[in-house]
Amino acid sequence: MLRKPVSVRNTNIVIGTTFRIDLSLAYESFGYHASMINKTCNFYKYASYINGEAQHHLNIDDVVTIQVADYGESYAVIKGIFKHKSNDGYFYPFIYVDWFEDVDKNHDKLDCPIFVLRHDDFYRNIFPLTVVDKVQKVHFVHNCNARCKDNHNSENKRYLKNDFFFKAI
Ligand SMILES: [Zn+2]
Repeated sequence: MLRKPVSVRNTNIVIGTTFRIDLSLAYESFGYHASMINKTCNFYKYASYINGEAQHHLNIDDVVTIQVADYGESYAVIKGIFKHKSNDGYFYPFIYVDWFEDVDKNHDKLDCPIFVLRHDDFYRNIFPLTVVDKVQKVHFVHNCNARCKDNHNSENKRYLKNDFFFKAI
């Protein structure tokens, strides 16, 4: 179930050729081969769904792990939750993500792995909402510098993966 509609203008997502190619690939990943007749996507802030016994919740800006065939287990931020009306007339739910790229370095003092948040088309960005049955929440903190004051400085794309978060539980 998708809740709280949001305008695509507030999502930082560009719906262009790359978006549509990604969306076709996402359809293909569950065996659906068709050209995109309908170009409209409806965006939401929040999704909840039941997988087996458990109820799951997904919000924009959640950090998750995704198991994707080509990439293995990787970390991403949910940047969009949307539905698209396919050629058969049914709506299908998808997520749009930005990827954390592991730069194979640790922070000098904190000894946490450093990741860079990519906002680009280098990797696929769109996946069926169903990949989230393999998602678990993970904890990233901004690698703050002097320019982070009231808000985090968005030009700094470096984040630290907080491995201690889970060990503490
Ligand atoms: Zn910061």
